[in-house]
Amino acid sequence: MPELPEVETVSQGIKSKLLNHKISKVIVKRRDLRFRIDTKLEQKITNTKINSVSRRAKYILINLDNGLTVIIHLGMSGRIVVEDLKSSKNIFKHTHLEIITTGKKKMKFIDPRRFGSVLLHETNNLNTHKLIKNLAPEPLTKEFNATYLFKALKGRSANIKSIIMNQFIVVGVGNIYASESLYKAKIRPGRQAKSLSLTECVLLAKSIKKVLKRSIKLGGSSINDYSLVDGNLGFFQSELEVYGKEGKICRKKTCHSKILRIVIAQRSSFYCSKCQK
Ligand SMILES: [Zn+2]
Repeated sequence: MPELPEVETVSQGIKSKLLNHKISKVIVKRRDLRFRIDTKLEQKITNTKINSVSRRAKYILINLDNGLTVIIHLGMSGRIVVEDLKSSKNIFKHTHLEIITTGKKKMKFIDPRRFGSVLLHETNNLNTHKLIKNLAPEPLTKEFNATYLFKALKGRSANIKSIIMNQFIVVGVGNIYASESLYKAKIRPGRQAKSLSLTECVLLAKSIKKVLKRSIKLGGSSINDYSLVDGNLGFFQSELEVYGKEGKICRKKTCHSKILRIVIAQRSSFYCSKCQK
């Protein structure tokens, strides 16, 4: 499943290839995604210009000059590919949507499992959209900091890993990045959230930002078929310290312990019992 760094990378990729392009043609091949694609999508977005491309949580926002935003969620297995119109071939099965621009590009939304979605909403009222209005702060903003985190953890008996993956506390920290951030912050994933000190919250908030930023820089993790809009792969996975490393020796030089795997809320969690308390 693409996580925040992957979605951010895709969003930046669309921006670099399609910003200021005019949409000349829209082809919808299948509407029955997680939510049904608007039957008037083609009509509503053809002949509009792409004014900006941004992201909120794991939603890609393509803002058009007619006051509408195309909201794309990649779901479990969604991908976006942007090709030159000239060399574009029908090599991807499960392409449900194609957007062709006057800049001679074709953007494809490909999603074998169809848990993704393509929605339309007014740009000005985006914050009132049912999928967006209740979202917690973005992890890479100032709003998400140690004080905020410390307050959010108060009185919570759930484990800290589930809490930082809770979209009502902070958005976009998925399974891979939760394990990695907790390792950097030296906190065990199974610790009760309320047991974290303010100092630990400082470390954890910093670690979450650091891990996500580094992954965005490297184009995300190419796990689960994820790839960039030009088909290239991200390579943050080569820097993973604990995720998927069960039985491997901890990367910290002085440690020598083996990385352990436990299951928390049905998801694999990886940690070092010596480095993380
Ligand atoms: Zn260790």
